[in-house]
Amino acid sequence: MTDGIAGKVVVITGASSGLGEATARRLARDGARLVLGARRLERLQALAEELALDGDAAVQTDVTRFEQVQHLVDRAVQLHGRIDVIVNNAGLMPHSPLERGKVQDWERMIDVNLKGVLYGIAAALPHMKARRSGHIINVSSVAGHKVRPGSAVYAATKTAVRVISEGLRQEVKPYDIRTTVISPGAVQSELPGSITEPDVAEGIRSFYESTAIPAGSFANMVAFAMSQPDDVDINEILFRPTRQEI
Ligand code: NDP
Repeated sequence: MTDGIAGKVVVITGASSGLGEATARRLARDGARLVLGARRLERLQALAEELALDGDAAVQTDVTRFEQVQHLVDRAVQLHGRIDVIVNNAGLMPHSPLERGKVQDWERMIDVNLKGVLYGIAAALPHMKARRSGHIINVSSVAGHKVRPGSAVYAATKTAVRVISEGLRQEVKPYDIRTTVISPGAVQSELPGSITEPDVAEGIRSFYESTAIPAGSFANMVAFAMSQPDDVDINEILFRPTRQEI
């Protein structure tokens, strides 16, 4: 059990794999009360069972649908009477050069990585404002700090998440709500699997194989931000594998 985590009611989007799943494992170990969202319900249910969460803690959620994100947050409030933390983590990274015109991939990134985060904020904020307490944790990326060929749209969504997080930070001061944006470098997960162009996927896969660190590294950052005293707000975290150059 860790101070600042035990007993907190935490909603995690994209909890069915990768960073979200690792965060659920870590926070469950530290005594948080979790409500998990993603589209793959069987995986969420298996995780919820393994972590001995409440029966209703796994909620099938497509973050591109506001009413589903609202339902996810409402479930936390129904089960535990409040929401203390939301980790807006769901995302995908179908990199490709702009000249290939992968319009559907662009739309999915904007819908999930950007609008999904906004929907999480919209769903959680009224509850947090009413209690004058809460913590909104958004997931950006190293790509939110620098763009490279092939990553323009992904980097745009992740830059937008940082900008929104900073705007939110200033706006929620009157309500004592904390805001953290976390920008990871290469971390082991299913993320490279979201790339639809085979040649691009191959390059990213070999980069991840040589560079990526375990997803627990991200979970540690979430735990660090959450476990600070209430009057300490960790606004931004940028971390990379030690061996990652770019
Ligand atoms: P994964 O592919 O392993 O996990 C992505 C998660 O997002 C899954 O749980 C997936 O669940 C969920 N998801 C995708 N689309 C939707 C949707 N429409 N509605 C709800 N959930 C959705 O990748 P990561 O764990 O790596 O990604 C998590 C976050 O971390 C992303 O925002 C990513 O951009 C960010 N990130 C990751 C880095 C890395 O190196 N791994 C580096 C920098 C940032 P399901 O398919 O079941 O819906």
